[in-house]
Amino acid sequence: MTESVGQSVGLPVAPEAVEAARALSEQGSAARHDELVRILQRASELYYQQDSPELSDAEYDGLMRELVAIETAWPSLVTPDSPTQQVGAAPTGTFGKVVHGRPMLSLGNVFDEEELRAFDARVRRGLGFEPAPAPAPDLCYVAELKIDGLAVSLRYEHGRFVQGATRGDGTTGEDVTANLKTISVLPERLRKPATVEVRGEVFMPKAEFARINAAREEAGLATYANPRNSGAGSLRQQDSRVTAERRLSSWSYQLIEEGPDGRPTASSQSEALARLAALGLPVNPDRAEGLDIVGAIGFLREWRDKRHDLPYETDGVVVKVDRFDQQQRLGMVARAPRWAVAYKFPPEQVETVLEDIVPYVGRTGTLTPVAHMRPAKVAGSTVARATLHNLDEVRRKDLRIGDWIVLQKAGDVIPEVVRSLPERRTGAERLFEMPPFCPVCGTAVVRDEGAVRHYCPNPRCPARLSQEFAHFVGRGGMDIEGAGWAVLEQLLERGLIKTRGDFYRLTVEDLEGLDRFGRKSAENLKASIERSRRRPLARVLNSLGIPQVGESTAIDLAGWIAARWPAEAVDAREWTASVAQSLPGVSAEELLEVPGIGPVVAAAIAGYFRAPETAAVLVDLVDAGVIAEPPARRVVLGSGPAAGPLAGKTVVVTGSLAGFDRAGAEEVIRAAGGKAAGSVSKNTSYVVAGENGGSKLAKAAELGIPVLDEDGFRRLLANEAPAGDAPAGEEP
Ligand code: NAD
Repeated sequence: MTESVGQSVGLPVAPEAVEAARALSEQGSAARHDELVRILQRASELYYQQDSPELSDAEYDGLMRELVAIETAWPSLVTPDSPTQQVGAAPTGTFGKVVHGRPMLSLGNVFDEEELRAFDARVRRGLGFEPAPAPAPDLCYVAELKIDGLAVSLRYEHGRFVQGATRGDGTTGEDVTANLKTISVLPERLRKPATVEVRGEVFMPKAEFARINAAREEAGLATYANPRNSGAGSLRQQDSRVTAERRLSSWSYQLIEEGPDGRPTASSQSEALARLAALGLPVNPDRAEGLDIVGAIGFLREWRDKRHDLPYETDGVVVKVDRFDQQQRLGMVARAPRWAVAYKFPPEQVETVLEDIVPYVGRTGTLTPVAHMRPAKVAGSTVARATLHNLDEVRRKDLRIGDWIVLQKAGDVIPEVVRSLPERRTGAERLFEMPPFCPVCGTAVVRDEGAVRHYCPNPRCPARLSQEFAHFVGRGGMDIEGAGWAVLEQLLERGLIKTRGDFYRLTVEDLEGLDRFGRKSAENLKASIERSRRRPLARVLNSLGIPQVGESTAIDLAGWIAARWPAEAVDAREWTASVAQSLPGVSAEELLEVPGIGPVVAAAIAGYFRAPETAAVLVDLVDAGVIAEPPARRVVLGSGPAAGPLAGKTVVVTGSLAGFDRAGAEEVIRAAGGKAAGSVSKNTSYVVAGENGGSKLAKAAELGIPVLDEDGFRRLLANEAPAGDAPAGEEP
């Protein structure tokens, strides 16, 4: 059987494209071939070695297909170093090298359903089930989501994790063992003492990507293009503490294990996935087994839209022949197996009008130009605003007010203006300039030498304060019910609050004077302020808006503080006061002891408690009567029972939560001493339900197990009683 170049590299091409290449003459084609090879090699270097691509994946895939078409038309142009013959890129010198026992391949790509059917026809032909409509009872497929991350290989010996590597060029990868150890879903020890090689994808959850980019933007650093690149960049760090700060996750999808007879222990992909799960490795539950090609198409249609609701990015569906003996008969081509194919989801981009560019002043004073667009539907939601990051970015993308623009969602989450469409200009478009004065307080805007950000230097700028205060009173913070934007703005305008502590100094009379406030509403707000006076330390810390510190870091930090300054002997008020006094004396080095905190976060926290503007924030709160409750002590050492707010509890998470991805939620459950389980049984203590909870909720109702929403879950983690479940002996 002869194969075209396209088939032999797993990248089928349209006959018209091949015809077009033939029409170009061999010489013309060779010149274009050279050019494409150069562009694609450079793109691969940027993508695989530097984790900062300049082309979009769709552009890369388009050029790759053009190259395949030329090589199909002119097979003499195929050389071993052509990108069509290669997997990934050679490892950089930064890490030790690991030679893979079995090559780590790429996958052939298809971009529509017809091409997927053609893959099925090739498989059937290869296995002797012809013609295509004839039943092939022994052939079935497994469909898995294609995770847009970084492929890794993990070696376990007698159940212990000993080495992990990236794919590299497929033959040799980079030794990233230390960094892989920081990924909490990957076990150090398997549930069985097996010697296996596990392959899978490491990725950055969308929420983590959004968190890191927001922090980078606030700090005036360049943001990452998408979770794939920030995930790959995070795993390929020289300092594994930096990796630990980026909460990466992973799904495993391939098992290489030989039984005593030298044959694989599993006889099919579906068995291998079950075995991976039984060993304690993370296996994606969103997959389908026992499919024919129609079933596989059904699966990808289902996920084309549903993928936007997942907490991580998927860029397609991988369809694999299930049985290993059939996989072996089909074999592989230059860079990919013949028994599997990746169907890539179409990139979602839409065109809309950039109606205005408006600078917003953020919590740190940074002026961020924000695109106001004609609302457009993209990747599952309607988008009307997108950050443009800074003036340089506006110029680089050549964006003018009134332009038609291309819009997409970076990493499926963050709306992003890709480029302008200058060919659609009418001449009425306007250039955007940063205002010379802060649009909120009128202070002259500053841009430091060599920096990209413009900022308002006034620390008392109401825009900065109102955002800081909104975070302070928000649900993840002190949770003061009734203190919305309208109230905050008035309190600031009237000079009633200048510091966070001032909230606790407000009187009913102060509040009664606000617009649309009567005695009753003033009393209500005062009462909710009073209720918030006592909050768990983690919540108080989170409310401060310390750069780089989100809810889970605040929980870790609070645990460390409680271990360092034990609270047992003193009352909570005194304890809060002593913590507030002591924190400015803590160094970044000491903070490295906090589990999960690396040098960047440690420096941010130490800097916050030492900076003149923020050093006294906690002292001011204590002075105003705020009490931070110490967390329950966590004992995770040794073999004794774990302590913590969830000690002895089994928690099942279902549906998607706004503030945690699944892996992150499970991580905090374990960190709080609890057990995260996948299914509801009579042993379940709580079910935490996000959106689209599904059948687990029905099961919980059937068994009478308490169901918590995200807020209840947070309260539980912070050692507060979830609603309706107040522990005896404490005030509600
Ligand atoms: P690929 O991403 O198309 O597919 C192969 C990879 O998919 C495997 O190596 C594996 O890591 C991964 N994968 C995810 N989920 C999987 C699952 N469930 N089962 C099996 N494998 C799974 O191929 P590639 O060789 O990694 O990369 C080529 C692609 O990378 C291009 O198509 C392009 O999209 C992108 N790329 C982009 C640029 C750029 O400049 N933007 C440059 C180079 C490559």
